[in-house]
Amino acid sequence: MSHGLSPLTTWKLRQASSDTESCMAALDGAAAFERLTDMTHTDACHITGRITLMSVADAHIAPLETRCATALRLAMWAHHDLRPLAQDIMHTDLAQIDHIGSYNCRQMRTLSGTNERWSTHATADAIDIAGFRFADGTKLRLINDWTKDTPGASFLKSARNSACTWFPLTLSPAYNALHADHFHLQNTGWGLCR
Ligand SMILES: [Zn+2]
Repeated sequence: MSHGLSPLTTWKLRQASSDTESCMAALDGAAAFERLTDMTHTDACHITGRITLMSVADAHIAPLETRCATALRLAMWAHHDLRPLAQDIMHTDLAQIDHIGSYNCRQMRTLSGTNERWSTHATADAIDIAGFRFADGTKLRLINDWTKDTPGASFLKSARNSACTWFPLTLSPAYNALHADHFHLQNTGWGLCR
């Protein structure tokens, strides 16, 4: 796969995220994916610019149903940050990004139960990342490795920090107990990086 992926400015990324055709064009070459027809389940639950995503920046992804905008931000993050960080900190290639889903027709979870509001997962505007695998066989899990004093923990902290460049809202185990085992990366939001 070629890496003709130049850093999109925030403005361009925002525009590509809101327009399906520009998003598909930007994602082409940056990811392996199959385009699907848009899906509407209910008013609250739908996927616009629907795809099955299989890899970003040569890092394998277990086939994931999501929307193009989510995949594009993930691809930018993987290409511009995760791959270089893997080299610098882990001294090996990033091989796989382990996710625990994107689309999920559900309401928001809070520490006190369920909120009235719909989750951004109901429109596939978020993806949950549980860990990473590397070419040398190393496997990192947020639940196990986040709090350690290891290169792997440094990789995870740097991954979280750099995710905030590409996703308007990024939540990590540092946010609350609901996120102890994953990063919640969201297309929409107001610069929350925790
Ligand atoms: Zn989430």
